[in-house]
Amino acid sequence: MSDLKIYKGKCLCGEVSFKAEAPKKEVGLCHCTMCRRWNSGPFHALAIPFDALKVESGEENISYYRSSDYARRAFCNNCGSSLFYHGDKIPEIAHEVYFSAGLLEEPAGLKMAGHIFCASKGDYYEIEGDLPQHETV
Ligand SMILES: [Zn+2]
Ligand SMILES: [Zn+2]
Repeated sequence: MSDLKIYKGKCLCGEVSFKAEAPKKEVGLCHCTMCRRWNSGPFHALAIPFDALKVESGEENISYYRSSDYARRAFCNNCGSSLFYHGDKIPEIAHEVYFSAGLLEEPAGLKMAGHIFCASKGDYYEIEGDLPQHETV
C-alpha cells in the first residue's frame, strides 16, 4: 500500500490545477446528502495526505466553504467545480484531504473500493454492482 503515485488534476475551467505524489488509493463513492449537494451527485473521494497536495496554478481561485463545524470544502470560484473536502476539525482525518477522482487527468489508473454513507443516498437511483456498501463510513 505504500506504492506512490502521481495524481494530476484540474477544475472545469482549468484555472486550478494540482499535483500530488501520494500513496495509491482506491476511490470511495460517498452518497451522503452533503456531498451530493456539493458535488451535484455522489462524490468519488480519494484521500491523500494534506501535505502532499500541491496546487500548481490558480491558488487565488480556490475558495473554501465551511460546510459544518468540523469540515470545509474547496471550490473553484471561477467555474464552481468542487475540489477538496478537508475535515480540518476532525482529529482522525485532519491530516488528509479528499479530492474528487473526477478532477483527474486520464487514465487515472484507479479502482473503486466501495460505497459509503449508503444510508443517506438519493432515492432517485440504485447502487449497482458487487462492491461493499457501508451504511456510514
Ligand atoms: Zn475552475
Ligand atoms: Zn459525503
